[in-house]
Order: sequence, then structure tokens, then C-alpha cells
Amino acid sequence: MKHSPVHSGCQVFHFAAWRWCINRAQELLEVHESVATFHEHASLAGMEQFLTLKPAAEGRIKLIEVKVDIEYAMTKTDLSDPLIIAPLRSPSGEDFGLFPIDGWHRIYRALSEGRETLPAYLLNSAAEEAIRIPL
Ligand SMILES: [Zn+2]
Repeated sequence: MKHSPVHSGCQVFHFAAWRWCINRAQELLEVHESVATFHEHASLAGMEQFLTLKPAAEGRIKLIEVKVDIEYAMTKTDLSDPLIIAPLRSPSGEDFGLFPIDGWHRIYRALSEGRETLPAYLLNSAAEEAIRIPL
């Protein structure tokens, strides 16, 4: 099962060498509960490094930063809406851990407000593959 090249209306999240179709992820979550496990209190530890909450430590640069609209994040987000987290794998199958592919505005707000967790769906690797868009 791969992302269909004729899928329309794709909302794409791009991170490093990966791209995912968030619409497809939401479609899968609506239809098949088995594509993900739900976590009421998924940890946000380490996620601040990808955001603009703090400048990079002196002498270091941020290689990868997720862009968020701060005004939108702080006023229009619903923190009860679960994040979507995917397992990251290289083309050769190397495991790079977990990464949120939807919900960065919620993460920004939660961290700004001192929260340490948010609800999240953790996709299984078959679902991650099904929503990944080849570069
Ligand atoms: Zn799509």
C-alpha cells in the first residue's frame, strides 16, 4: 500500500528527506483504527529543538526548523485534537525514531504554556509507508 499518485487535495508535510500526505493519514485514521495507537499523554520532550521557542545554543545552528504561525498557534489551535506521529525510516529501513507529522502549531502552543504532553496517534510503519510521498 503506497500513497496514490492520483490522490487529490494532498496537504503535504515536508521534513528533511521525507514528505507525507496528511489528508491520507486522516483518512486512514477515520477508517481503520488499527493504523495507529492512541496515546493520551504523548511526551513533547525534545520537540522544542525544531521550533523557534528558543534560539539555538551559542555556536550552534538549527539545521532543521519547523515553521509555525505563532498567532495561529496561540489562538486557533485545539490542544485536545491528537497529534499524528510517525516512525521515521530511511529508504534502507534504518530507524530514526518518532516524529510528529501533524500538529506542530499545537506543540508550539503546548510548550509555550508549559505543557509536557499532548494526545497523539502513533501510526504503525505500514500506515507511515502508505502516506509517504516519494521524492
Ligand atoms: Zn495525498
